[in-house]
This record gives sequence, C-alpha cells and structure tokens, in this order.
Amino acid sequence: MALIVQKYGGTSVANPERIKSLAARVARYKALGHQIVVVVSAMSGETNRLISLAKEIMPDPDPRELDVMVSTGEQVTIGMTALALMELGIKAKSYTGSQVKILTDDSHTKARILSIDEHHIKQDLDDGYVVVVAGFQGVDANGNITTLGRGGSDTTGVALAAALKADECQIYTDVDGVYTTDPRVVPEARRLDKITFEEMLELASQGSKVLQIRSVEFAGKYKVKLRVLSSFEEEGDGTLITFEEENTMEQPVISGIAFNRDEAKITVLGVPDKPGIAYQILGPIAEANVDVDMIIQNTGADGTTDFTFTVHKNEMNKALSILRDKVQGHIGAREINGDDKIAKVSIVGVGMRSHVGIASQMFRTLAEEGINIQMISTSEIKIAVVVDEKYLELAVRVLHKAFELEAA
Ligand code: ASP
Ligand code: MG
Repeated sequence: MALIVQKYGGTSVANPERIKSLAARVARYKALGHQIVVVVSAMSGETNRLISLAKEIMPDPDPRELDVMVSTGEQVTIGMTALALMELGIKAKSYTGSQVKILTDDSHTKARILSIDEHHIKQDLDDGYVVVVAGFQGVDANGNITTLGRGGSDTTGVALAAALKADECQIYTDVDGVYTTDPRVVPEARRLDKITFEEMLELASQGSKVLQIRSVEFAGKYKVKLRVLSSFEEEGDGTLITFEEENTMEQPVISGIAFNRDEAKITVLGVPDKPGIAYQILGPIAEANVDVDMIIQNTGADGTTDFTFTVHKNEMNKALSILRDKVQGHIGAREINGDDKIAKVSIVGVGMRSHVGIASQMFRTLAEEGINIQMISTSEIKIAVVVDEKYLELAVRVLHKAFELEAA
C-alpha cells in the first residue's frame, strides 16, 4: 500500500465528463489498496475568466479581493470531484486550502506556503476516505484567503506530498510527460522516461511550461518523488523526475531544449567604463521590481562599454522609461534601445558537466543556418542564447537534430 498524491490540472477537470474519468482512475488506485489524496486545479479557463471579471470592475484589482474571487475556481472542482467519487461508491471528502490549513504568508496572489496541517487528512485517509484538496490556495495567519501564483496547484500537490511523506506525487496533465522539446515545434520530440530535478528546474525556468517552477524547487528540496503523466491516457508511466544519483546510466549529454518568446532586450550604449555603472543601471530597475534575466557587458576600445540585459516583454517599456528618465543623463550614456523581437533558446543537460565542446557544437549548428547569436548565458547544465525571434523555430529544430534528441 502506498500513499499517493494525484494532482489534476485544468484540462483534467474541464467538465463533468473529465471529472468522472478522473474519479474512475482514483477508484482503480484505491482498489489496489493505495491511499489517495487528490489535488485539483480550477476548470481550464476558469481562473482567467475570474481575473477578467475582477478587472472589469477594477483595472488593477486589489490583491486580497482578487484572491477571494479566483480561489472559487478550485472550490467548485473539489466539490465536483468528491461527488464524482461518491457516485462510484467511494468515500470522499473535500477541503479548501483554509480548511486543511495550508498556512501561507500574506503576499496575496503569490503567497508562499509556510506549513500544512496534515492531521485531518491523515485521519481521513486512515478512515478510508479519498481526500480532495483545492490546489492553488491557502490561508494566512489572519484567516485571509491567499493564492500561490498562476499554476500554483502543482505546488499544492508537491507540498502536500512532502507534508504527508507520500510515496509519490503524480502530476496529471494534458501531455503524457516531459518532452525533449515542444512537439508542436519539433514533431520528432521524444518523451523522456526520466529527467533530473536540476534539468527540470532549468527547463521550467527557461520556458518549458509542464510544471510550475516552484513546485519543482519544492520537490527537489523535500525529496518528493514526482511523476508527470497524462490524464487522457489509461496507460503509460509518464516522466519520472529523479535525483541525479539514480540517473547516471547512459545519461545523454543534452536532455532537452527549452525556449521562450517572453523576453525583451535592452541595450545601454556608450556607458563610461568605471566602477558602479552596473549598479547605477540595474539598481533603479530592481527598485521598480522589474526582473532581469540575462546580462552582458562589453568594453569597447574607446573606454566606453555597452550594457545589455533582458527583462520580461511586458516590462520593457517600464524599464526603458526608468533608464531614459532617471539613468541616462546621470551616467552619460549615449543611447538606450529596446528590442522585443527576440527569443531565447536553451539546451539543458547534466551531461554537460562531463563533456567538453557542447557550447561550440551549439554555436556551430546555429552558424550553419546563418542564425546570429545576440547574447549567451550559461550555467553548469545549461547554455542559453538569444536570437532574432524569426529564427526561433528553426534554431530549436536544428539543435534538436544536432544533439540527436529524436533518437531513442
Ligand atoms: N487555477 C490556477 C491557475 O490557472 C492554478 C493552477 O491551475 O495550477 O493558475
Ligand atoms: Mg495549470
């Protein structure tokens, strides 16, 4: 007998039929003698619908009230899921985040989990219930409803699995696992049987959207065994997220290619090359709460430097006006430009640690297609490049081929 947390995303609870099929899967696991905790998202599209409703009333909605509204999406699906289980003759009980007592801090719309009271859930499981918990929501110390950020039900699932010391946390979604890259871009993309936490974390942070990044961090930290599976298929083992120790046999050099079109590039030209400049440029950007991703700086022959960095596309204009209003005159920069027609492509693999020449193979592959690399950043297990947006798909395809990711 195992204790399994099964998390179902929006497409897996999109309508009563999908919820009935979810219940049928839970029933099969229950029949094998397992204890099951189900975590559900809102029906697909529901959270977006609730956010737009709020915005029709207040363009920039008050975060506490927004949380009160959006948390209702998951309250509907836990009730439906418990009913669907009861219809199959299974004892089931649903809980909102606050009923469980998933205690969070008070940062509405992006709260962090502080603790989970697992006692009622354990008792219910021992009494033979399937326990259904609302994803994405919690409660702060003052009883206010909080939410964990978009995609936060993954984090609820993993956090519950950690608190209950579950044997496995299964994330059910509309794909049957983690792929070498997005199959919509590369039809030859292959499902991975296993991937390490580190790789998953890099892929998620570089734009792969299978799992919310915080849930992967959480699972890594608390050693939760995590598996991504399709709720649309009966069979299949999905992708197991492993710790590297368990996954060393015939580790491929590259495990996956992630990409995103979410970033914009800002270049500050002709900056005097002296101490404090990076701080004077990025300090005001950080104060305005704008996240910076990649950064490069080149020193020219004339003693001035060009300083380039990327931010989220939605924040490019904000960053540009901060720089033009507060920084340019002050540091004496010649020119400040923004470019949001860029894309970032990253190759990720723990095998990079023990292989040389991966970067040059990547750069040669792109050069052979005439794709210009605008920026580069690396970590121990990742190489990311910024290219012109129009080359994104080509870049992903040729890299997928060059690193033989389609081969089994
Ligand atoms: N319903 C929330 C969202 O759409 C949480 C989740 O689906 O994980 O972001
Ligand atoms: Mg989701």
